[in-house]
Amino acid sequence: MTPVTTFAGRRVALFGLGASGLATALALKAGGAAVVAWDDHAEGVAKASGQGIETADLRETDFSQFAALILSPGVPLTHPAPHWTVALAEAAGVEILGDIELFCRERRKVAPGAPFVAITGTNGKSTTTALVAHILRAAGRDVQMGGNIGTAILSLAPPAADRVHVVELSSFQIDLTPSLDPSVGVLLNITPDHLDRHGTFAQYAAIKARLIQGSDLAIVGIDDGPSRAIAERRADRLVRIHVPRGAALSADALTVRDGVVSDQAGAPIANVAAIRSLRGAHNGQNAAVAVAVARSLGLDDAAIQVGLESFPGLPHRMEEVRVRGRVLFVNDSKATNADSTEKALTAFRDIHWILGGKAKDGGIFPLVPYFERIAHAYLIGAASDSFAATLEGAVPYTRCATLDAAVAAAAAGAAASAAPEPVVLLSPACASYDQFRSFEQRGDVFRDLVRALD
Ligand code: ADP
Repeated sequence: MTPVTTFAGRRVALFGLGASGLATALALKAGGAAVVAWDDHAEGVAKASGQGIETADLRETDFSQFAALILSPGVPLTHPAPHWTVALAEAAGVEILGDIELFCRERRKVAPGAPFVAITGTNGKSTTTALVAHILRAAGRDVQMGGNIGTAILSLAPPAADRVHVVELSSFQIDLTPSLDPSVGVLLNITPDHLDRHGTFAQYAAIKARLIQGSDLAIVGIDDGPSRAIAERRADRLVRIHVPRGAALSADALTVRDGVVSDQAGAPIANVAAIRSLRGAHNGQNAAVAVAVARSLGLDDAAIQVGLESFPGLPHRMEEVRVRGRVLFVNDSKATNADSTEKALTAFRDIHWILGGKAKDGGIFPLVPYFERIAHAYLIGAASDSFAATLEGAVPYTRCATLDAAVAAAAAGAAASAAPEPVVLLSPACASYDQFRSFEQRGDVFRDLVRALD
């Protein structure tokens, strides 16, 4: 744990008692603050009070007694409407912060030069965070990984000069971190997302930009307009990451072409072409960013290559589950929209595609250009009728209704195919909620079904 000592002896309100909220309350208490915590869900409140945290309905408390309101990132700060705690704090002139801000203040106080890598972007945050942490660990560094991935930041060991914090940040977390100042700030990409919580795309991009403005070294993917504009506003201590499409090349960037990561002068640094856990152009961007971070922390190119090659990948993101005969089974359950599924469809051929669930706007129309890669589609869940209509006449399909039926049918179809390396791919392009609790559970069920095939 990282005890938060910057509020020692003061009273602090905290709203949101999920995993990170509870960890924050405990870290504040350990650092000597008097925390008053609340949540709309009784279980969170009961759990906190069971761990010795004072709880009280913040509607009934006098906010002028508090030095700060600590909010969980899931609680709306501005949109669709400020949460009631935000209104109470603002009326009392109380600052509103998140757990990342508490970490930043503590780092400045106890270990100001401690390496702190903060990673954001619309897509690829978790993969890149895990990859950076893995490369550094493989090189023998003391690494603490968390934030929006895995462990809450204040549950990690405290910052120290010889310890690297590698932290994934969502836009919600950045929004609650007014003095965000990582030693290395990474912005992968920006595409429209979470507009319900940020109002406009411009506001969402402005929040992501704050990570770059506050960082000592900035590493920025320049393949989309908003990210490129953010890079242009930064004069120095900047590494641009570019995955060129076609011939267009941007000068003065770390580039990735056919899996080869090259430096600004065009000299090769690393090669991910044959690394199965880093398939696809999108992973080229993630790998190049990881290379730039590792270099900035003093790793040599040989150590970086070793780390890249031993990266196991993350579950549910083009995860290779099993090879059965000639057939590769891939769990891409994290692909909850067409954009994500596109990445998987471009990475494979002769695909036996399991898709469906609760459809997103636009369905699978954006995937029509990749239909020639699909040998057969197996439909599950609520989207079956509308997806069948899109596939009609272009891709042979079977309505399987459930995942177990789809796995059985796809396994049989792929095994009978004449292709040299057919792939059974679960990449649903849909949310899972019609049949599963989460994309993780959907992926876990798929993995179990595939492993149980004889
Ligand atoms: P996040 O944590 O930002 O949601 P993940 O690393 O979990 O990102 O990847 C989620 C999905 O986003 C992947 O399954 C893939 O489809 C897509 N993706 C990953 N990296 C990138 C990238 N650099 N650019 C675009 N899309 C990506």
